[in-house]
Amino acid sequence: MATDSFGRRIDYLRVSVTDRCNLRCVYCMPEKGVEWKSPDRILSFEQIERFAEVAVEEGISKIRLTGGEPLVRKGIVDHVRRLRAITGIESIALTTNGTLLPIYAQALVEAGLTRVNVSLDSLDADVFSRITRGGMLSDALAGIDAAFEAGFDPVKLNVVVVRSLNQKVLDFAKMAMDRPLHVRFIEYMPVGEDAEEGGGCAGDSTGHHWTRDDHVPSDETLETLAAAGKAAGLGELAAVARDDAPGGWGPAHYYRFPDAAGTLGVISPLSHHFCGECNRLRLTADGRLRTCLFCDDELDVRKVLDAGDKEAIRAVIRAALASKPESHDMRIGTLRRMSQIGG
Ligand code: SAM
Ligand code: SF4
Repeated sequence: MATDSFGRRIDYLRVSVTDRCNLRCVYCMPEKGVEWKSPDRILSFEQIERFAEVAVEEGISKIRLTGGEPLVRKGIVDHVRRLRAITGIESIALTTNGTLLPIYAQALVEAGLTRVNVSLDSLDADVFSRITRGGMLSDALAGIDAAFEAGFDPVKLNVVVVRSLNQKVLDFAKMAMDRPLHVRFIEYMPVGEDAEEGGGCAGDSTGHHWTRDDHVPSDETLETLAAAGKAAGLGELAAVARDDAPGGWGPAHYYRFPDAAGTLGVISPLSHHFCGECNRLRLTADGRLRTCLFCDDELDVRKVLDAGDKEAIRAVIRAALASKPESHDMRIGTLRRMSQIGG
C-alpha cells in the first residue's frame, strides 16, 4: 500500500494519453493555434504500461484514462486490454467527451474497461456547440446511450457548472430519473494564467471571458436543484449514504430524488476542497508525474522510461509520494491547460 507523507493512501492514477481532442471546449483549449506535442514527445502505450506495472507494485490499483480526448488516440482499445491484464489492476476507467463512444463502447467493454464518465455541460444544442466550439449535442447524447447499451455500470456524467452559462440543472436531474445515470456537478475551476479571467495556461488564453464570478459553489447548485426538483414534482432531494454511493473512487457527495434510478452528485474542488482525501497521482501525456492538479512541480518519468530502468521508475513514484503537497491552498493557477493534465 502506498501512502504519502501525510498518511493518505494513494491508489489511483490518472493517465492523460493524448493532448489532442476532437472538440475545443472554451475552458480547456484555445480555438486555434493549439500547439500539439509532436508524437515523439508523447509517451507510447508501451511506456505507459511499463509505468503502470511499477505503479501497481507501489500501491496503485485503479487507473483512469483521460486526455485530451482519449478515444482519438489510435490503439486505445488494445491499450485498455493490456493495462487490464496487469496483475493488481482492479479497475480501468475512462473520462471522455462521449462523441466517439458509439464507435468504441462495445469494444472497450470487451477489452475490460470497467467504468466510464462522460463530460457534457449543456443540454441545449446551441449552448453545447458554443461551449465545445462546434460540437454536436446529439453526438454526446448518443455516446451516453452507447455506454448504457454496452453495459457500463456505473455511467457517470460530468457537468462543469459556470454561472454565466445559466445551465438548467434540473434538466440533468431529469435524465437521472429513468436511467441509472449518475450526474456530477463540478465547480468550474479558473485554471491557468488567467485565473482572473477564465481558464487556460500561461500565455495561451483559451479565449473566453469567464471570471472568478463564474465559479458556482456546490452548495448553491444543490439548493437550486432541490428547489427546482420540488417545484417540478420530483420530491425532496435527499443525501445518499456513502456506502450506497454509485461505485467510485472520487470526491463526489451524492443525492437522490425519490424514485430516481440515478443520483446527483456535487464535486467541490474549491469551495470544500477534498485534499485531505486525495488518493491520486497524474501522469501527463508527455511523461510528467504530477502530484496535484494545481501543482506545477512535475517529476520527469519520461527520462527513466526511456532508460527502461524499473528501479528508477520506482524511485520517481516514491519521490512523487514524498513531495505530494498537503493541499492546493487555493493555488489555482497552472502552467498547463486542462487538456494537457487530463482534468
Ligand atoms: N476529453 C475528455 C472529457 O472532456 O471528458 C477528458 C479530458 S477533460 C480535460 C477532463 C475533464 O476536465 C472534463 O470533465 C472537463 O469538463 C474537465 N475540465 C476541463 N477544464 C475544466 C475547468 N476549467 N474546470 C473544471 N473542469 C474542467
Ligand atoms: Fe476536449 Fe475534454 Fe478539453 Fe473539451 S474538456 S476540449 S472534450 S479535452
